[in-house]
Parts: sequence; structure tokens; C-alpha cells
Amino acid sequence: MEDYRYCDLHIHTIFSDGLYSPEEVVRKAKELGFSAIGIADHDAVTGIGKAIKEGEKLGIEVIPACEFSCLMEDKDVHILGYLLDYQNPSLESFLKKVQDKRIERAEKIIGNLSKQGIKIKLERVLEIAKNGSVGRPHIAQALLEEGYVSTIEEAFMKFIGYHSPAYVPKMEISPEEALKIIRDFKGIPVLAHPVSYDFEKIIFPLIKLGILGIEVYHPDHTEYHINYFSEIAKKYNLLITGGSDCHGGRKGKLFMGEIKLPYFHLERLKEKKKQLFLDI
Ligand code: AMP
Ligand code: FE
Ligand code: FE
Ligand code: ZN
Repeated sequence: MEDYRYCDLHIHTIFSDGLYSPEEVVRKAKELGFSAIGIADHDAVTGIGKAIKEGEKLGIEVIPACEFSCLMEDKDVHILGYLLDYQNPSLESFLKKVQDKRIERAEKIIGNLSKQGIKIKLERVLEIAKNGSVGRPHIAQALLEEGYVSTIEEAFMKFIGYHSPAYVPKMEISPEEALKIIRDFKGIPVLAHPVSYDFEKIIFPLIKLGILGIEVYHPDHTEYHINYFSEIAKKYNLLITGGSDCHGGRKGKLFMGEIKLPYFHLERLKEKKKQLFLDI
């Protein structure tokens, strides 16, 4: 019998730079007819337990994940860790360190902006970020509120983009470290939205380092990318994942419902986890 179940394995919540709470994400998933969703906040796992609870009520399976940022050839590359042991206190303390560095970095960016006569308050940025990983989207929102820009996109273009003078990099780990952390916490490492990078340069080194999957389906991927990344997945025996990368409207047009990943891909992900960590 045909399996009509679908998942969206890449969703952000208020615990990083998404606009929806974990519970809202689960309710939206239910409305949209998804069977499973992956909560994949930047450097945070805080929303996962809450989403799982809501998911149990509504019959939505919630897959734990975390989106790690690492530095490769001077560029920010995102690696998703799926099915990781999100309740492990050592993971939480590692992520706490990363989050504290993000606050220091926000302070530096705000300082740089102030030198340009752009005045926003760290307190407001932290308030916008609630208790989540603080990032440039929160700074962008503060810039919007103060009338310095009229869209989030404009804030990135004018003030806080990669090439702007106020830009400060995050605490970046190497891809080796990201893969080690994911493995230490029994997760499956997957390269997020490869179209965001010079992918022909980074995919093969990452495969050598032990990446196990590739996010083939993402709203930014064209038909060409989907075919290209699928071929690579086939050739190198990588898992295939996909998701909307929904930020609830904070990041352009990425919304839940954009990507409907057939459920068998999630089954393969789970099989991989069993094979690697439960068969010992
Ligand atoms: P950070 O991790 O603080 O460097 O911020 C990166 C995040 O900002 C990404 O994960 C996106 O959610 C968001 N972002 C990056 N570029 C843009 C852009 N041009 N417009 C809106 N959001 C963006
Ligand atoms: Fe983001
Ligand atoms: Fe990302
Ligand atoms: Zn993301």
C-alpha cells in the first residue's frame, strides 16, 4: 500500500530565530497534515521536549535535531544533527556556552553599529530573542523597530550582512568538531541547504569527514539542485532529508508546507541511528 505520510524535518522555533513556539509548530503541522516534524533550532535543543509533549497530544511525531554552525573555508556552513540525545546534560552545557558567545557577539555587533550612529539596545535584542539562541535576525528586528530599515532583509543588506562593517562572526567550530559533537551525542549529521554555499567545494570534503546525509529538499533548491544533490546522495550512499527551514516569516518565504518529505526518508534516518548506536 502506498505510504502517504509526509514530514518536514527542518523547523525553527522561538528557541532560536523562529517566530512560532514549539507547540504552535506542532499545531501547524497537524493542520497541514504532516505525520512527523523535525525541530532544528540553531545551537539549541530547548524547544524539543515541549514539541514532543504537544505532539503526543495531537499525534504528531517530533524528531529531535539541532542546527550547528561551523566554519569552512571562512564561510558559515550549517550541519544538522538528527535524532541526537537532546536530553544529555553535557550537550546542554556545550550549547549554553555557544549561546553565551552569541550574546557577546550580539553586543559587539551592536557596538559596531553604534560607531556608525545606529543605536539599538542589547536589552531589546535579548528580549526579542526571548530565551533562545541570539542571532542576527533578532538584531534585524530591533533595527526594524527603531525605523532604521523597513524589512528584515534590508537590515541584512545594509547593516549586518556577511560583508558589512558591523558583522562579527559567531563562535565557530570546525566541521570536524561539529561532526564529533553530533556523533558523541548519538546524532546523524546532515549537511543543511547545500545551495547556500559553494557546494561543489564543500560537499566532498564533508563526505570524507563523515557526513551521513544531505538536505536535498529545501525551498531554496531548484529542480537542478534537487537532481544534483540526489545524484550525490545516491553515489555516496548518503541519507536524504528535507524541510522548509521555516522561521515563521522571519526569514523570507520559508514556511511549513513548502516541503513534504516522504516518510520513508525518515525511516532510513532512524535505521541509520539504530545501526550506528543501538546495535553495539
Ligand atoms: P546568525 O546565526 O546570527 O549569523 O544569523 C544567521 C541567520 O540569519 C540565518 O540562520 C537566517 O535565519 C537569517 N538570515 C541570514 N541571511 C538573511 C537574510 N538575507 N534575510 C533574512 N534572514 C537572514
Ligand atoms: Fe535561522
Ligand atoms: Fe541553516
Ligand atoms: Zn535552519
